[in-house]
Amino acid sequence: MEKQLQRRVVHLAQLTGWRVFHARPALDRRGRWLTPIQGDAGFPDLVLARKGRIVFAELKRDGKRPTAAQRRWLDTLASCAGVEVYLWTPSDWEAIVDILR
Ligand SMILES: [Mg+2]
Repeated sequence: MEKQLQRRVVHLAQLTGWRVFHARPALDRRGRWLTPIQGDAGFPDLVLARKGRIVFAELKRDGKRPTAAQRRWLDTLASCAGVEVYLWTPSDWEAIVDILR
């Protein structure tokens, strides 16, 4: 469900002229999925930028809450000037369309 939402949001963002960043998890040697990063875990799923706007979005299944690490990133980013920070689930689709339009 989150993967499907992600595909939809990425597709919409690309159609509406946003630059899109998403870090994909990869399989490690032991067959575990992980997203190789340095620094603090929980960074939002998507970064979108378009002419004067930057959006950070964490995507979740309906009814699912962000982890504590994700919450810390969202709160810190939301405290920064000029950025838009969202927590999106599939039921937010209409709002997402409005925001990215
Ligand atoms: Mg997510």
